[in-house]
Amino acid sequence: MAVFKGPQDLPFVPDDLTVPQFILDTHHPCKPVVVRGDIPCLIDDATGRQIGAEEIRARTYGLANGMHARWSIREDDVICIFSPNHVDYPVAMWAILRLGATVTGANPAYSAEELVYQLKLTGAKLLLVHPTCLPTALEAARIAKFSPVYMALIEPADVAVSLPTVPDLIEDGLSRPPSFNERHLHPGEAKTKVAYLILSSGTTGKPKAVRLSHYAVIANTVQSAVHMDISPNYASDENKRFRVGDVMLGLPPFYHIFGLITVLHFSVFVGMPLVVIPKYSFIEMLKSIERYQINHLLVVPPQIVLLCKHPAVKNYNLKSIRTVMSGAAPLASETIIALAQVLPHAAIGQGYGMTEATGISFARIDKHVDTSGSSGRLVPGVVARVVKSDGSLAGYGEPGHLIISSPSLASGYLDNEEATKETFVDGWLHTGDEVIINEEGEVFVIDRIKELIKVKGFQVAPAELEGHLLEHPDVADVCVVGVPDDYSGEVPLAFIVPSISAAKRIKSNPDESEKVKAAIVKHVADTKVHYKRLAGGIEFIDAIPKNPSGKLLRRFLRERAKTLRVKG
Ligand code: AMP
Repeated sequence: MAVFKGPQDLPFVPDDLTVPQFILDTHHPCKPVVVRGDIPCLIDDATGRQIGAEEIRARTYGLANGMHARWSIREDDVICIFSPNHVDYPVAMWAILRLGATVTGANPAYSAEELVYQLKLTGAKLLLVHPTCLPTALEAARIAKFSPVYMALIEPADVAVSLPTVPDLIEDGLSRPPSFNERHLHPGEAKTKVAYLILSSGTTGKPKAVRLSHYAVIANTVQSAVHMDISPNYASDENKRFRVGDVMLGLPPFYHIFGLITVLHFSVFVGMPLVVIPKYSFIEMLKSIERYQINHLLVVPPQIVLLCKHPAVKNYNLKSIRTVMSGAAPLASETIIALAQVLPHAAIGQGYGMTEATGISFARIDKHVDTSGSSGRLVPGVVARVVKSDGSLAGYGEPGHLIISSPSLASGYLDNEEATKETFVDGWLHTGDEVIINEEGEVFVIDRIKELIKVKGFQVAPAELEGHLLEHPDVADVCVVGVPDDYSGEVPLAFIVPSISAAKRIKSNPDESEKVKAAIVKHVADTKVHYKRLAGGIEFIDAIPKNPSGKLLRRFLRERAKTLRVKG
């Protein structure tokens, strides 16, 4: 068996439309409705405000016009959105894309240093900031010498600041004659024109900016929709899973591929109102499910673990939920069994996705409880090869490295030819994941062979933490690995060779060991977002094992970390 394919064919995917034209303006054969006036697209969780497609369209035009008049945005300028989920987040993204510019979303919990890294990496010219992120954004602007003249607020701030706001810009843009020409694409151009730059460390090294074209985004939206059972006659078919007017929870962050494509683009495309949740709190999530009668919950495994275990769950009526789908990290079979007991009426699913493939590549949703460990079948348009360690192609049931081709593949990493060539080889994406595909076409992810650590579905790049740890005076050498964790999936643990001076202090006073560790843990906690912290702890080691050419033997230390954890 040379190549594996999914059970369905991919319908036609247009290659001459931008994302907002496809999502908001155009009818597509697999689109259930064009734009239904009676069904909102977005619902603001806090206020209940409903926003329909027509209003989103008008706001995207107003904002594009207002931003263009103020800043003369040019083709391919990069604009960074530094905000939690917000109803004007997609408005801002799609306005930017109508201008022919590019969007990069930054994690709103980032430290100033992390934001600076993203601004420099992507060359962002303009920053759209939520008021809660403003202090960090101003600090980052100071460090990066980024003029606040090029900043705007997503919504008005409580404190007095002299920055324009997105609502102001929309109002201004709607009141003046059009000053910009909407970007239209030539046939085929959607395949090369970049829409989003999303950070991912890929298989190795520090976070890189993944170039996602308009076509890749549209393709993955269609792939998800077809795979998850949607067709042109969908609205009239009561047996389908995702129906026009069903309500989805918009909890996964829009700066990450799962929240961006599988939640936001998918729900708007299908015509399912998305309740936009800015900040995760488990109890607030339960309240929102009850208040908005949520039908579909697309979340990450730790949130499902809490649904299974948290005592407050029984206080809420969750009967509206028809689907719970897990993404961004593996979902354990025990969790599936426990969830089926808590929500016996809900179908349970999971999807395997990757930023470099613009979203899901295989997925499943089952009415019965499936504990086979499979993450589902390949979505239409994805072709997979499984390469064994000897370089030959695996057959059914044989493990190997997953490489895929898909119309949704990214066009590489921004300004990083070397990493692009290593990861995207002749149109095939090297995922860095080890899988088995069986005769039924079901894919089982059995190991991650790349460096990446996933904490609650968030990416942690060992190379980023290692670079940061080496700046600490007590660290001579370091290797960071992921260790299994019941709640977070994995957490980072650092094997550290102490510097000569730290080693001397530890030798002369054993109490020093804990002090040195605490200082190093703080060094990370002070400058990195919460999920990158060394929650797995620190292990001192005499030397980091390396091969003769100096490459870290990470797998060896990963195995060692597991034994340490077992011993406790
Ligand atoms: P990201 O680009 O942040 O979405 O991370 C992609 C990586 O997350 C994949 O290459 C996998 O290692 C991991 N991943 C995502 N979904 C799953 C899943 N359902 N099962 C196992 N690993 C997953």
